[in-house]
Amino acid sequence: MVQVVPPSERRSGRTPVRTCLGCRRRAEQAALMRVVAGDQHGPGQGWDLIPDPRRRQPGRGAYVHLTPECVTVAIQRGAFGRALRVPGRPDSTALMALLGQ
Ligand SMILES: [Zn+2]
Repeated sequence: MVQVVPPSERRSGRTPVRTCLGCRRRAEQAALMRVVAGDQHGPGQGWDLIPDPRRRQPGRGAYVHLTPECVTVAIQRGAFGRALRVPGRPDSTALMALLGQ
């Protein structure tokens, strides 16, 4: 008997899969927004969540669906700070602006 691998599984070997910080579902990296932490206001001034749609920013990245639901849940849970290893709750202004909120 020949085992037929479904296209979705065959693809998963090459396509990076990440977990959304909001709904905790796994999704292809391309379906999620990469977010990095930046201290653009200077050291000690707190951290900002910086959307990185091109996935070019160095450092640790977190992934979330770019929807109000997933972003809000992730922020409320404090998931970004944990995932990005920054203390406290990073400022989410830039990310919310991207959502039009
Ligand atoms: Zn999600």
